[in-house]
Amino acid sequence: MRDLQDQYGRSFKTLRVSLINTCNLGCVYCTMADTDTKVSNHHQKTNISASELLRIIGYLHQELNLETIRLTGGEPLLYHDLIPVVAGIKAMGIDEIKLTTNGFLLERMAFKLHKAGMKSINVSLDAINEDVFFKMSKRSDVGRILKGIKTSIDCGLDVKLNAVIMKGMNEDQIFPLLDYAFENNIQIRFLEVMAMGHLYKQSEKYLFTQHDILNAIASRYNFERLDRKASATSNYWKTKEGHVFGVIANESEPFCGDCNRLRLDSQGNIFGCLSDNHPINIRVIDDTLELRQKLKLALAQKQTVRFVGSELSMLEIGG
Ligand code: SAM
Repeated sequence: MRDLQDQYGRSFKTLRVSLINTCNLGCVYCTMADTDTKVSNHHQKTNISASELLRIIGYLHQELNLETIRLTGGEPLLYHDLIPVVAGIKAMGIDEIKLTTNGFLLERMAFKLHKAGMKSINVSLDAINEDVFFKMSKRSDVGRILKGIKTSIDCGLDVKLNAVIMKGMNEDQIFPLLDYAFENNIQIRFLEVMAMGHLYKQSEKYLFTQHDILNAIASRYNFERLDRKASATSNYWKTKEGHVFGVIANESEPFCGDCNRLRLDSQGNIFGCLSDNHPINIRVIDDTLELRQKLKLALAQKQTVRFVGSELSMLEIGG
């Protein structure tokens, strides 16, 4: 359906697939402060099988001519059939296959992922300091994640870092993270916290804005802003020394205007927007007209200007 487009010229070109709705970390923005990851298993329903998933992705690709697929979760490296899924997507002729992971299991997976057709990986890492990392994620061993990053780079994967910065929690990690990224020539993006899940209607107190992040970095570096690419989530700056860093400023500089993302969760539901809590089930669809109708519904879910928050956490809808 090459003509699916809304009045703002938006369509779906990137599919984000949540493979699994459980995680091996308990990050503060995803899970309640007093819960751990075992509690997140509480949400677990039967995840879609690899063959069912590939059938749905193939069907969506046929309709949308997808350019990029990002696999996420929950934690996608916990999904048993990850490698066959990557290989299956590659076999559909989609080359831009990407992954968002916490990196905990990356060291042993990187080579297999690259061999199956994975191109690039975003590793979520909110702190370098072990104590702050524990406060943010309820897990220890940053070194294990750093090893996973090194192995991925050695395998030929393009690696980026994502760090959510929360006021009063980890803003002191901006420079340790930046130093690590610059020293290892890895692009890093800092994220403003989003009003999702248990933070819905109360993320404001943790919001460390793009302005705050840039102010902090400006105490050590001179930098200039780079042009934003169409449909990008991140704004980028380049330091005088030539290092590039980004900020994903959902709150202070929303990027809904040219959003091209469609989300598929681990139960076979699509969502046209992170702000919308209404799942559109396509698991049992085998009729093209019905799929087209559902895609139109998903496109209509898109916000025109900004993300307005959601009661669903990223764990459920996929980050
Ligand atoms: N487990 C994987 C990981 O950690 O990258 C993939 C899923 S995780 C939900 C995807 C991304 O969403 C992570 O970078 C995480 O930091 C981000 N995220 C989750 N909840 C968020 C929130 N409320 N605000 C900002 N970022 C959030």
